[in-house]
Amino acid sequence: VIGFHIYITMIKPAAKAQEELKKAAEESKKAEIIRKEFVANVSHELKTPLTSIFGFIDTLQQGAAEDPEIRTKFIDIIAIETARLKRLIEDLLVLSDIENKKESADAKEFCVKTVLERTVEALEPIAEDKEVRLITEYDEDAWIYGSPDRFRQMMVNLIENAIKYSEPGGRVWVIVRLTEEKVQVAVKDEGIGIAKEHLERLFERFYRVDKSRSTKAGGTGLGLSIVKHIAALFGAELNVESEVGEGSTFYVTFER
Ligand code: ADP
Repeated sequence: VIGFHIYITMIKPAAKAQEELKKAAEESKKAEIIRKEFVANVSHELKTPLTSIFGFIDTLQQGAAEDPEIRTKFIDIIAIETARLKRLIEDLLVLSDIENKKESADAKEFCVKTVLERTVEALEPIAEDKEVRLITEYDEDAWIYGSPDRFRQMMVNLIENAIKYSEPGGRVWVIVRLTEEKVQVAVKDEGIGIAKEHLERLFERFYRVDKSRSTKAGGTGLGLSIVKHIAALFGAELNVESEVGEGSTFYVTFER
């Protein structure tokens, strides 16, 4: 029995170490695949608008510029595609900034309601354009610690999505609820909703349920992955509830 015991105590740590090594190797392989996929995705996402811009400039240079109607139309398309490139690069910079600098320089205690009020106000014109009504419901003041600028970025992405994936006449709610330990911010819409099978991958970079709808709405496919990263920096929990044709609610829950 003693012999057996010695055998077990010697073998066990060695086996465990080997298992851990194997696990680490698998993780690093997975990370490498994700990184490669990301680079391929970024290249593709950058190339698509650029190809279109080049194409229209070329056609204009070939003589299409002489027709004022065609010229205006093509220049409008070039402007739209250039704006898409700009948004994409901005989102990529935000993502890399979040990944590189975990602790933000402007981190402090801030009032959730104050930052949200300003954020909602700034998004009012986009909502009006789409004929979507923005409704706010705030509990008493709640303060949390972190970067107010990143908090604002996260809320902009969620509220913009809620507007983007709503039909005209729809309503979007921004709700703050307090409990003793937690502050919960919910962004709720009555829009197109998301089918169950997509919910798991929704927060991945460049994952879209309906690519053409996202592109038409000016999406980059990076909005929710930015939200996920920022929520993680805050140590906040991120949840989504959705019903196709009924709408979606995204919840971000912070510790107080
Ligand atoms: P995008 O730039 O395409 O909006 P996001 O990362 O912000 O990228 O969102 C990923 C996908 O999740 C979107 O393409 C869309 O299909 C879906 N989605 C996000 N928010 C909503 C919402 N409020 N209602 C319905 N679908 C949504």
